[in-house]
Amino acid sequence: MKWTVGRVSITEIVELETVGGTRFILPQVGPDDVQQLPWMMPHFANEAGRLKMKVKSLLLQTPTQRIVVDTCLGNDKQGRSVPVWNDLHTPYLADMAAADFPPESIDTVLCTHLHVDHVGWNTRLVDGAWVPTFPNAKYVFGDIEYQHWKTHSEKPEHAAVFADSIQPIVHAGRADLVASDAQLTEEISLIPTPGHSPGHMSVLITSDGAQALLTGDVAHSPVQMAHPEWSSKVDSDALQSAATRHELFGRFADTPTLVIGGHFDPGHIQRDGDAFKFIALQG
Ligand SMILES: [Zn+2]
Repeated sequence: MKWTVGRVSITEIVELETVGGTRFILPQVGPDDVQQLPWMMPHFANEAGRLKMKVKSLLLQTPTQRIVVDTCLGNDKQGRSVPVWNDLHTPYLADMAAADFPPESIDTVLCTHLHVDHVGWNTRLVDGAWVPTFPNAKYVFGDIEYQHWKTHSEKPEHAAVFADSIQPIVHAGRADLVASDAQLTEEISLIPTPGHSPGHMSVLITSDGAQALLTGDVAHSPVQMAHPEWSSKVDSDALQSAATRHELFGRFADTPTLVIGGHFDPGHIQRDGDAFKFIALQG
């Protein structure tokens, strides 16, 4: 999957895909709720109303930089609370290389936030040690987000993620801690979108008059566009995340901006009464 935004291309690399099995994230969303929203099918849910989700990275090729946005779960990681996320051995790096993005060609890794499924491939296991996966890249983390997890990783899973996927990058001198509204390149800037996590950031791509928005985990499914008040169980601040959804979706609704979720396929946001709907790009 690949999309073009002016002089920037966006390539999707999928590590895992699931249908259903999402009640642990959005417990309030039943199949009946989804089936009432015809635009959810077939791209964002199956005919039975079960949500589709991907764990994926988005690879940006700008005129000057190759950027990986979010790095999935990673191989060989342990101590994850979701059992199937432990000790993975996926062909993620081979898939990247097949898409003409070998690890050594990456200039920048950008994490929208520092949750388990967005930082995993920051590092890989070499001779028993976690080393940066992308040997020539700087790793851009939100400063607010980093400072939060540095001091709030008491839970075993958070501690494991911080120890194997964040701290080795900082120790290697490769972390670049930025403001949540930083401009990264001529085409790429960040938008503060807190609520899912304290320093969560979305990514705005603007080039030759075209625009794309990478929402990260502002929403886990477009069903939250119809119900922005439906916060996920893993949002750190449910009220703030709902407010962020209203504000962000309202800003980009009824515009030509291509919107790609951290866990769902691309489309366009449209106003629908007091809320929104999401029109899939394909079909
Ligand atoms: Zn998250």
